[in-house]
Amino acid sequence: MSEQNKIEKKIEDNPHSAQSYSAGMEKPAYDGGQPVRDTPLHYGHQYIDEEDIAAVTAVLRSDFLTCGPKIDELERRLCEITGAKYAVVCSNGTAALHLACQVAGIGPGDEVITTPLTFAASANCALYCGGRPVFADIDEETYNIDPAAVEAVMTPQTKAVVAVDYTGQAAQLDRLQALCRENGWVLIEDAAHSIGTSYQGHLVGSIADMTTFSFHPVKTVTGGEGGAVLTNDEGYYQQLLLYRSHGITRNETLYQHSAHGGWYYEQLTLGNNYRMTDIQAALLISQLNKLPLFAARRKAITARYDAAFAGLNGVVCQKEIAQSDTVRHLYVIRIAQGELTIGRREFFEALAAEKIMCNVHYIPVYFHPFYEKLGYVRGLCPVAERVYEGIISLPLYYGMTDRDVEDVITAVTKLANYYRA
Ligand SMILES: *Cc1c(COP(=O)(O)O)cnc(C)c1O
Repeated sequence: MSEQNKIEKKIEDNPHSAQSYSAGMEKPAYDGGQPVRDTPLHYGHQYIDEEDIAAVTAVLRSDFLTCGPKIDELERRLCEITGAKYAVVCSNGTAALHLACQVAGIGPGDEVITTPLTFAASANCALYCGGRPVFADIDEETYNIDPAAVEAVMTPQTKAVVAVDYTGQAAQLDRLQALCRENGWVLIEDAAHSIGTSYQGHLVGSIADMTTFSFHPVKTVTGGEGGAVLTNDEGYYQQLLLYRSHGITRNETLYQHSAHGGWYYEQLTLGNNYRMTDIQAALLISQLNKLPLFAARRKAITARYDAAFAGLNGVVCQKEIAQSDTVRHLYVIRIAQGELTIGRREFFEALAAEKIMCNVHYIPVYFHPFYEKLGYVRGLCPVAERVYEGIISLPLYYGMTDRDVEDVITAVTKLANYYRA
């Protein structure tokens, strides 16, 4: 069945037409009314086709399950796709962030500035190296790290900034890059959400000192698990290779002793085993073939949501900045304070009752008990804490049908109208 036919079939199979819904005062399922649909719609899902499966099985029949030709091919593809000079793939996005911090030379006493509105891995990477994450507050409208807040928390111990492209929209990279250059810090861009996005005409991956990707199944392209670090700096590149695989090299030009023979290699530093398998790499190469398709669909769904929610009372959309041509990984709405009779928690549960299964990205990192034990306290980043109180991530993924998208819009509209203050 062709792609288009499959999607049309899914639309036929769904008896609940969003088009038939008029934005009246229909009772929400949460309050005993009819749900918008009867099968749950989840917030994200991978898209795997027969080409992906064939690519993986071909590797299983080949000589190399790891350290093979698919790794080189994937790294070349990532460079082509992003315009970066070098790419080093690794086991996951968290490993990529750890590698970037190791290569940036983060150690005890060093501070790494990041956003609290992210997955914990963006901050944990500093801790792995003995450094200390320092949280800078976010912009109230874009939800990305605020460069002015970075300046407010910088100290002589600051060594790096981990800037997250939250939901896929690029952080304010021009100002962050200028700050890093002025102060001799390393700019690490956590681009787990933003493969395919470009900033001021430059693709994400080619901009920061090091850029990290995640290929977890919920992200735009997946390898099951997987990650990558991209850089234009040859020195960083050599170090990334070293740290990916135990600190061991077979590059003779780096040897400190003379080789003992053909079996010889040297361990030069304490590295990790963060290698990716060729099985994952083959899946990722096949997924990257579809990146233009994935990106176009994500942009189309985003545009549809933007249009539908633009005038909707009680629901605020993330502000888009002109510099970022964004491929969204997440679509986040914010429940406006005081405009509805219910809060985020009830709105989230009411959406679930409509069978629209959402998520929240993210609990501020320093709210977690582990960070509290390290001495971080509430109130550190008031904007991020306020934004967290209102946000909900709606379903957004390639395989959603137009009908699925309309179901989400119907449910959000129904709740916003019904619970209007
Ligand atoms: C997913 C994600 C990561 C971690 O990636 P994994 O591949 O799951 O280790 C890091 N940062 C952000 C912002 C993410 O969304």
